[in-house]
Amino acid sequence: MSPSGVISRLLIVDDDPSNIRLLASIFDENYDILFATSGAQALQIAVKEQPDLILLDVIMPEMDGYEVCRLLKADLLTQAIPVIFVTAHSEVKDEILGLEMGAADYISKPFSPAIVKIRVRNQIELKHAREKLTRLVITDGLTNIANRRCFDEQLAHEWHRAHRMSQPVAVAMIDVDWFKKYNDHYGHQAGDDCLRQVAMVLTYSAKRDSDFVARYGGEEFALILPTTQNETALIVVENVCRALSDLELPHALSEFGRVTISAGVAVCVPNEHESAESLMRRADEALYTAKHQGRNQAVLYQPKED
Ligand code: GH3
Ligand code: MG
Ligand code: MG
Repeated sequence: MSPSGVISRLLIVDDDPSNIRLLASIFDENYDILFATSGAQALQIAVKEQPDLILLDVIMPEMDGYEVCRLLKADLLTQAIPVIFVTAHSEVKDEILGLEMGAADYISKPFSPAIVKIRVRNQIELKHAREKLTRLVITDGLTNIANRRCFDEQLAHEWHRAHRMSQPVAVAMIDVDWFKKYNDHYGHQAGDDCLRQVAMVLTYSAKRDSDFVARYGGEEFALILPTTQNETALIVVENVCRALSDLELPHALSEFGRVTISAGVAVCVPNEHESAESLMRRADEALYTAKHQGRNQAVLYQPKED
C-alpha cells in the first residue's frame, strides 16, 4: 500500500495478453490491475469497475483503441476516467488523433517502464484533484450538503425530466425560525452547529433516493421531491418539520423553546407557462404564509382566486 493508503485501479486493454503482462509487471502493490482483451470488454469493465485510469492499445481487431476512447468519452459514466494510449504507432498524426479523441496522454512503444509509471501516477493525481474540486464546487462548506449552485443545477435537471414525463415536481423552501435570536443568545459558533444539525435532519427525514436537500443560503434550506403530488409533498415536508422539532434542540428565545423550521411547498407539472423559478417563488410565498401563521409548520402554496 502507498503511504497515503490509497490503491489505484488500472484497466489495461490490449488484444495481446503478453503485452498486458508486460505492462502489468511495471506496477507494484499500490495498483489493482484489471485487464480486457477487446474494446467491448474494456467498455463493460470501465462502467462496472470505474478504474482510476485506462491504458489503451490502439490496434485491436473489431474495435480499435480510438473508437474505445471515443465511446468512453461519450458516456457520462466513464468520461472522467483518464485514458493513456500505449501504442507502436509513433507518428505525430497518430498522437494528435489519440489526444483529439480525449486521451490524457500518449505513450509510444518501446516504452520506458519508469516513464510509464510516472505518467500514470501524474494522471491519477490530476483525476483526484479534479474530483476534489468538483466536490468543493457543489458542496456547502458548513453543512457538507449540496450548495445553492448544485441545487439550481439539480432543479433544472428535475424540471426537464418532469416536463418530458408530464409528471409533477415538488419543491420546498425551508427557513429556521427565530434564528437571529438563536445566534444572539447562543453565539455564532453554536448557530453554525445548529445549522449542521438541521442539515442532518433534513437529509435523513427526506428519505427517498430521489429526494434532494440543499443549503440554499444563510439559514435557508431547499428540497426537491421529484414525482410527488401536492398532498404527499406536504406530508413529507410536515414530517421533516416534525423531525426537527422532535429533536428538541433548545432555543430559549423561541416561543416553542426548541429549534424549529417553517416550510413553503409548491408543486407543479412543468409546462410552457411555468418555470423552475416561478415554482421556487411560490414555495417562497408559502413559506412567508407559514411564518405569518405562527412558524413551526409547512404550508402548501394555494393559487390565488381571481
Ligand atoms: P424568522 O423566524 O422570521 O425566519 O426569523 P430569523 O431570525 O430566523 O430570520 P432573519 O432573516 O432575521 O435572521 C436570519 C439569521 O440567520 C441572521 C443571520 O446572522 C443568521 N445566519 C445566516 N447564515 C448563518 C450562518 O452561516 N451561521 C450562523 N451562525 N448564522 C447564520
Ligand atoms: Mg431567512
Ligand atoms: Mg429564519
